[in-house]
Amino acid sequence: MTAGIYASRAGHSALILEKEVTGGQVAKTAVVENYPGFAEPIDAVELVQRMENQVRRFGCQIENAEVTGIDLAAEGIEVQTNIGKFYPGAVVICTGTKPRSLGVENEERLVGRGVSYCAICDGPLFRDREVAVVGGGDSALAEANYLSRFCSRVYLIHRRDEFRAAKVCQERTRQNPKITLLLSRVVTRINGTQRLESLEVKDLKTGAVANLAVAGLFVYVGLVPNTGWCQGVINLDEAGFIITDENLQTSLPGVFAAGDVRRKTLRQIATAVGDGALAAMMAHEFLRNRSGQ
Ligand code: NAP
Repeated sequence: MTAGIYASRAGHSALILEKEVTGGQVAKTAVVENYPGFAEPIDAVELVQRMENQVRRFGCQIENAEVTGIDLAAEGIEVQTNIGKFYPGAVVICTGTKPRSLGVENEERLVGRGVSYCAICDGPLFRDREVAVVGGGDSALAEANYLSRFCSRVYLIHRRDEFRAAKVCQERTRQNPKITLLLSRVVTRINGTQRLESLEVKDLKTGAVANLAVAGLFVYVGLVPNTGWCQGVINLDEAGFIITDENLQTSLPGVFAAGDVRRKTLRQIATAVGDGALAAMMAHEFLRNRSGQ
């Protein structure tokens, strides 16, 4: 959305193609407390809505469509989507990431039946129930704290003794009386026929395996880039993130990348916004040079 704002303000006719709802992963969290300008935590959906209003105010269009491919064609850059092909002068890819799955038995089968990757979407279904969260990053700790608002107990299962989440988030988690830490432990199996009934949890220090009865499991073990649709056309790193230069140019001329989808060291709203601004201005430069202005 930042790229859309900058491209529109630079005088271009800009179109955002969005396959779900604007906001991406941000729209799937409860509150945002580290984006500058909001001294108090802001509701994530409200933040996204404010950005979308700003995008539209500058005349940038938002269209619901799924991009399925990109290539260089005789007409220029060809963007293939489920609603047809587009031939823009320049493109900024901001397709972000999706949650990584744990990869244990029964996980896929019980998605929507106890297994979830979105606490904000599914958490309220587990009011007064016991749930587990897996992971040790910012997402796992933030969402464990969110779930503790209405779940009777939240077990936070992490494979190490140390968290990689921000210090402030760690302190909040350790002080939360409704969160029980299960450290140096991994989920080795999800049990349940119709619904999730329990988890098989292995203690990595002792090798002991225990059964943990919970109604829900929220998986936050990292992110996978949404780049399957441009694989083989745009250079990706070994984990599938888009490789850009310092001006966010990808391996395809006129195609830039911004935000979580690209190879970078810090994935935050603040850094995505910075990327969006730079990518749009570099796209602007690309178009100016091409037209010889
Ligand atoms: P992340 O930082 O990559 O953390 C993933 C966590 O899952 C790590 O603790 C990792 O353990 C664990 N893990 C990975 N694979 C696992 C497996 N197979 N089994 C068990 N555990 C596994 O992911 P994230 O928390 O989703 O965050 C992604 C990015 O978004 C980060 O850059 C984060 O800072 C950002 N983010 C920021 C905020 C915020 O600022 N408020 C909120 C959410 C996300 P190890 O630690 O042992 O590797």
